[in-house]
Amino acid sequence: MKALRWPRSPAGHRWFLWGLLLGLMLLLLVTLVWLAGRFEASQVQEKLERDAADVVNDIRSGLTRNVQSLQALHARDPSPSSWADHATQFMGEHRELLRVEWRTPAMDTLAAVDSPFRPPAFDMLGRGYAQADVALGCATARRFNGAAYSTNYFLPQKDGLGMEVMEVCLPLAAGGGITGYVVATYSLPEILAGLVGRQLTRSQEVSFAEADGARLALNGVARRGTPVFTARQLLDLPGNTLVVRVDSWRGAPGVFPNLMMALVTLMSLALITVTVLLARDTRLRQRAERGLAEALAFRKAMEDSLLTGLRARDLQGRITYVNPAFCQMVGFTVDELADHAMPAPYWPPDLAEEYQQRQEVRLAGNAPPREGFSSVFMRKDGTRFPVLIIEAALIDAQGTQTGWMSAVVDLTEQRRIEELSRTSQDRLQATARLATVGEMASLLSHELNQPLAAISSYATGSLNLLQADALDGADLAMAMRRIAEQAERAGKVIRSVHDFVRRRAEAREAVAPQTLLDAIMPLVELQARKLGVQVQTELPADLPAVLCDRTMVEQVLLNLARNAMQAMDQPNISQRLLVLRVSQAGANLRASQPSGWLEFAVLDQGDGISEDVALRLFTPFFTTKLEGMGLGLSLCRTVVEQHGGFLGFEANYPRGTVFRFTLPTVK
Ligand code: ADP
Repeated sequence: MKALRWPRSPAGHRWFLWGLLLGLMLLLLVTLVWLAGRFEASQVQEKLERDAADVVNDIRSGLTRNVQSLQALHARDPSPSSWADHATQFMGEHRELLRVEWRTPAMDTLAAVDSPFRPPAFDMLGRGYAQADVALGCATARRFNGAAYSTNYFLPQKDGLGMEVMEVCLPLAAGGGITGYVVATYSLPEILAGLVGRQLTRSQEVSFAEADGARLALNGVARRGTPVFTARQLLDLPGNTLVVRVDSWRGAPGVFPNLMMALVTLMSLALITVTVLLARDTRLRQRAERGLAEALAFRKAMEDSLLTGLRARDLQGRITYVNPAFCQMVGFTVDELADHAMPAPYWPPDLAEEYQQRQEVRLAGNAPPREGFSSVFMRKDGTRFPVLIIEAALIDAQGTQTGWMSAVVDLTEQRRIEELSRTSQDRLQATARLATVGEMASLLSHELNQPLAAISSYATGSLNLLQADALDGADLAMAMRRIAEQAERAGKVIRSVHDFVRRRAEAREAVAPQTLLDAIMPLVELQARKLGVQVQTELPADLPAVLCDRTMVEQVLLNLARNAMQAMDQPNISQRLLVLRVSQAGANLRASQPSGWLEFAVLDQGDGISEDVALRLFTPFFTTKLEGMGLGLSLCRTVVEQHGGFLGFEANYPRGTVFRFTLPTVK
């Protein structure tokens, strides 16, 4: 046999309980209906029993009344004929009597009256047929000294039918002896019709029955089929006992025998519905609660993991909420901060008054700047730190302001980094300046070397001429002129370097971009030929002139072109293409408005610039080349920035690097 297994899963468990509850409710309902049916049936049966008792009572009292009336016929000692008159009158009022006789003590008939409602009952068989019953009845009557009944018997009639009849014998006594008898014959069916109340026979059948259930006489509604309810009562008469039976065809109570039952059923159904609805409601609420709890937990996790400090204050400036980041920032616990009024414990004491004023301005309804404001807070240990506070009104679900919400960012680290980058920037600039000076020095030494060498050789030549006897004035003058020329050239070089160092704007002139390219082209092509590089220039015709220090910009272009060609000087690079491109720069190109800037781009197909090289590219003296100085790019940037432009680089597509710089155009 398989044992009933308790469902394991919670859902199965729940369904099992629900099934059990519904089953029990259904069982309760069915039991209630059944009990109500039973109750109703017992009510009907009881009523039937009462009716049967009423029938018996009706018959008994009717018979007693008749006996009294029959006795009364002899009250004034009548003659047989006057008795017969009275008896006829009496019979006219009582259909249940078939015949009344006055008999002598020897049972001879003195007078007899038949019922006026039907043919004489003993026509067919004669009165002698019932003699034995009459004699028996009268014997009993004598014994009881009162009216006594014979047993009932069947009396056939002339019309082929017959009926069940019963005799009653009433002894007439006078002076202690019996003076005669009154014998009356009752028709049992007529007893039922005449003596039983109408209301009892209207909806049910009343009958006299034998002990075995056979019916002797009946009255009332006759229906087919077996009666549903039956009640029996004994009609105990002196000398005879009859069984009175009442049958009812009233239907068995239906499923809903009465209104109350229907109400109970309805209420039970309503109860089940309400229970189901309640359960559903509970489940929905549980789900909503779970959702809410998850949302809350998520929000809390979010607030807890935030690095930004959060602080809420009510309209009186009292702290209503702080997140862990805020507590960590200021070094106070939530309990130390909660409900704290002004001044806050993290306000530096010397600034508290200023903060208080600021706070009052805020509480008066003035919104703080949207981008936030800087302030200084103090940790519990007394150290101060800069913060950025972004404050906004705290609006509740009803749309009313309940306080202020602030996001607080600790600026300590940011300030430190700023400080660091400022010092490194300063250091870099110093190095850059140094580099510039170094470059200048090498430039100077290079440029001055030639005139100085020339001057030196002219001077030596002149000296030789002076020492030689054959002094040629013309030669000497020529040598002197050359010396002067070289000295002037050297002076020019020094002046241009001086100008560059002093960043003199006067050195700038309007130069067409084509002119700049033309100036460097011979040198570029010389190197290109050597390295097997193809050079391409892209230059739209209608470009404006740029305002620049021509020599310096030529130097920048030369430098970038040289770097680009060197980058392509690798055995694995077969396509060596150097592109020099000049175009309008800026965002207004689409509106075809000149932006006031030209962009110079130098594109190569080299190996590109790796990330770590890119980081140090503009650092003076950084180089990856054996004979490189590492000053080129840093100097280029300085020159471009001195012109107000920008120099940068990016990867070229599909390979290589693009260096770009901008220069202002002539207005
Ligand atoms: P130098 O040319 O003397 O090395 P630069 O300042 O001009 O000094 O260049 C610094 C470094 O930048 C070079 O050594 C080289 O590694 C790298 N570099 C410059 N231009 C390019 C380029 N077009 N492609 C790849 N690397 C480049």
